Amino acid sequence: MTTVDEKGYYGEFGGAFVPEMLYANVEELRSRYLDIIYEPAFQREFQHLLREYAGRPTPLYLAKRLSAHYGFTIYLKREDLLHTGAHKVNNTIGQILVARRLGKTRIIAETGAGQHGVATATVCALMGMPCVVYMGEVDMARQAPNVARMRMLGAEVRPALSGSRTLKDATNEAIRDWINNPHDTHYIIGSVVGPHPFPDMVARFQSVISEEMKGQLEDHTGRAHPDAIIACVGGGSNAAGAFYHYLDDERVRLIAVEAAGKGIHSGHSAATSILGTKGIIHGSRTLLMQTPDGQITEPYSISAGLDYPGIGPLHAQLIGSGRATAIPVTDEEAMQAAFFLARTEGIIPALETAHAFAALDRAGIAPGQTAVVNLSGRGDKDLAAYMEEMGALKIL
Ligand SMILES: *Cc1c(COP(=O)(O)O)cnc(C)c1O
Repeated sequence: MTTVDEKGYYGEFGGAFVPEMLYANVEELRSRYLDIIYEPAFQREFQHLLREYAGRPTPLYLAKRLSAHYGFTIYLKREDLLHTGAHKVNNTIGQILVARRLGKTRIIAETGAGQHGVATATVCALMGMPCVVYMGEVDMARQAPNVARMRMLGAEVRPALSGSRTLKDATNEAIRDWINNPHDTHYIIGSVVGPHPFPDMVARFQSVISEEMKGQLEDHTGRAHPDAIIACVGGGSNAAGAFYHYLDDERVRLIAVEAAGKGIHSGHSAATSILGTKGIIHGSRTLLMQTPDGQITEPYSISAGLDYPGIGPLHAQLIGSGRATAIPVTDEEAMQAAFFLARTEGIIPALETAHAFAALDRAGIAPGQTAVVNLSGRGDKDLAAYMEEMGALKIL
């Protein structure tokens, strides 16, 4: 049940629930994506760009001081060192190459923290394709540097003005655009969410993370698998990539860290696997935060990239079946973990990523075991939030 079936289901989760106007687009993608991405010329171009443009392979770094603190061995998969500062570019490179092979001439995307928008604007500039990025008005304000980056890269950033004016609303706007422009436009979804085949396609593009991890662990430790992999989950793409080649390897514990915001039951949270119930969001059946009559609940997290009311269907299945463990982490715990990592290893993580580090002390990892934390992105974009914290702590 860890791989998707013909219809795009992981067990009871997934599928493709799309309006009639999008059926032809999604069906075209579904019927062609595997042939396109496993074609040798595609793989050559994809691997070339990952290596020469994005900066792969990323290091698997032994965090000695962090390991000494926790009493087990901690490796960091350094996706933060990639071009544009996060794992997102693995997927946008893959999808723009798919879009070109489908004959599409215009790209749209949604973004929360702006990282996916920047990664999409980047590959559109690289390929000379026009790009429209939808972003919630609230997110545009709290991630202003990324809005500037997208515009500098030539993308048009359109504010989403409905609902909580965050990621889910931007996603709704992007879907609306796609419905209105079904022939020339490809929608580059930024996570393992959306109708089939998006979750599976994005997971395959991100799977390069665990593919490299296997060889690097073998080189470092003589064993190709760790005891645990820890990754933060917004929609779940960096976690899907970090877990992918270990999904069926029961020796490896998979730990998915969710944003608990101001506390799981505070009414200001995005801990979907705990608060979520089964339903359909953005084209797939999964776990989502909703009222008893099916209205989506506004999610909250200090990190715009985790502020999403659903999770990808793969993760709903992994957590529901017990294969993966979900750990909720609050804003405050994530903030503390970010400062601890900065001062222990000299690495300033993205606020999203900081959630994964905050789970290290409660993931149940035994002394002597080996854990990999997927360091999904760097913290430059979150400097304003970090400065505010330092102001409160009277460091600044
Ligand atoms: C977008 C983002 C996330 C959350 O998205 P996933 O699809 O769950 O990976 C996590 N970390 C960083 C740095 C991000 O930019």
